[in-house]
Amino acid sequence: MCLLCDLKSPAADAPSQASAHPSPRWQARRAFLLAAGASAAGSALAQVDVGSSSSLRKLVPAETLETSARQQYSQVLAEARSKGALAPEGHPQLQRLHTIAQKLIPHTAQWNSRSRDWKWQVNLIGSKQINAWCMPGGKIAFYTGILDQLKLNDDEVAMIMGHEMAHALREHARERLAKSQATSIGLSIASQLLGLGQLGDVAANLGTQLLTLKYSRDDETESDLVGLEIAARGGYRPEASVSLWQKMQAASGNGGPSFLSTHPSGANRIQELEANLPKVQHLYEQAHKG
Ligand SMILES: [Zn+2]
Repeated sequence: MCLLCDLKSPAADAPSQASAHPSPRWQARRAFLLAAGASAAGSALAQVDVGSSSSLRKLVPAETLETSARQQYSQVLAEARSKGALAPEGHPQLQRLHTIAQKLIPHTAQWNSRSRDWKWQVNLIGSKQINAWCMPGGKIAFYTGILDQLKLNDDEVAMIMGHEMAHALREHARERLAKSQATSIGLSIASQLLGLGQLGDVAANLGTQLLTLKYSRDDETESDLVGLEIAARGGYRPEASVSLWQKMQAASGNGGPSFLSTHPSGANRIQELEANLPKVQHLYEQAHKG
């Protein structure tokens, strides 16, 4: 019996004899399911439709992952600083990123109530890599390569930032880690929740995987749409989502941007964004009326 398969349909698969003669395993699983709780629904206010988050992600506690991400983020910044590659406060490109982030952050909490307590951070790292990411808990990095080589305007930067924020808000890293580590780390966390064992250095192990984590195409579609809505509410032109990915595709020769190795693109990414532009156009217009 696979614990993960069982978790997908917790209500439907309780053994009929469980209440009469509950096995220790069923009791443990039931306790874990109670600890994990129900899957949170998507935002009621949302204009784009992305459904609910997977309840499987709850195998990895959000607090644990956010702690891991904080530690990993600090290490990345320290390493960049030691090489003289961390943009100082006052760097014009960093100020530009901060301005965009300030317009987007007010529109994030509707996608994840925990994010109200996140300490969002944005840093710029000097590197030719075409890359940007947001770790769990709102720790964002842009590489100068993505700004310079793709020659992104502010609207396109907002689309990338919204996309990365969406990965964190929709807890895609948490879900990926829960799925990939289910037989080792995930289960040890489940054991800890049940009081069956020690967590050990799970947080450190999780952190080291955050930078190379590859999202699924479904995660990408979800982040495209949630990011599009966040950026539109922040007052950034929805059409920039299309021009951004056109630029990314054009740059995909020569080994391709690092970004695309962790953010796999579906063939219909641009068509999907185009189809969703009418849903968010009024949000963009409202932002400018306000
Ligand atoms: Zn992505």
